[in-house]
Amino acid sequence: MTELPGIVVTGASGRMGQMLIETISASDKARLVGAVERTGHEWVGQDVGVAMGGAPLGVAATDDPLEAFSKAQGVIDFTAPEATLEFAGLAAQARAVHVIGTTGMEAAQIARLEPAARHAVIVRAGNMSLGVNLLVKLTQQVAAALDEDFDIEVIEAHHHHKVDAPSGTALMLGQAAAEGRGVSLETHADNTRHGITGARERGHIGFSNIRGGDIVGEHDVLFAGMGERIVLRHLATDRAIFARGALKAALWGQGRNPGQYDMMDVLGLS
Ligand code: NAD
Repeated sequence: MTELPGIVVTGASGRMGQMLIETISASDKARLVGAVERTGHEWVGQDVGVAMGGAPLGVAATDDPLEAFSKAQGVIDFTAPEATLEFAGLAAQARAVHVIGTTGMEAAQIARLEPAARHAVIVRAGNMSLGVNLLVKLTQQVAAALDEDFDIEVIEAHHHHKVDAPSGTALMLGQAAAEGRGVSLETHADNTRHGITGARERGHIGFSNIRGGDIVGEHDVLFAGMGERIVLRHLATDRAIFARGALKAALWGQGRNPGQYDMMDVLGLS
């Protein structure tokens, strides 16, 4: 019997890192073969199962990503932009599929993924859940069907630890709305409103961000017309949906040609 694909989780102690460790350990389609944390982090050298307060999993966290990646067929990475750029180069050297869930990457940082994508598969998505990727598709369709008489607003809510805004998912939804409308999001996004802003600009796509408590992730796309409103909504109540999607992406990427892909490709929605 051939061995199951080996997966390394980066940012092992993080909210998503721990969820990924649980998901991969419970899967019958993949094996957890490594866990990476920052140098100096208390998890380094410890069995990750024990560090999570459970039974040993036989995988110790390491601060040597290349060594961990060299044993893996996939790397699942929900960390921070600069760390993700470093991991992209190392995953490509190891020819491992690099699944990137990290959000908040600037355009210039995303461009720096290109050399790695010439040698290995990268799957990057601001949201790995099936439901949100369906919502993206629906947003594009509704935006294409309605004209600028309908104002589009993307409203998102997340827990109080989140460091970037708008969320990666809100940006995916805004991008889908812009594509449906046939406009550029760069020139049509209204990101923050404060003070005397003047009237809403026709055709613009607005973003509102709520931060509080333990909200996993909530997104509304509001199409507000005169006398009627349409609201497309996704509520995430469990981070496991992102971990399951990321694992699916890591398995989907095995044996594919090098290049950059997203969850639409993985889910067959593109
Ligand atoms: P978190 O702060 O709980 O975890 C991040 C982890 O990364 C921490 O353990 C940190 O120590 C680790 N890390 C940072 N730099 C590192 C480095 N150089 N080497 C190794 N480890 C490093 O954050 P989180 O809530 O788990 O979210 C992480 C990222 O994933 C964020 O960008 C978030 O927006 C994103 N996210 C994406 C999705 C999606 O579906 N795409 C879903 C949820 C969260």
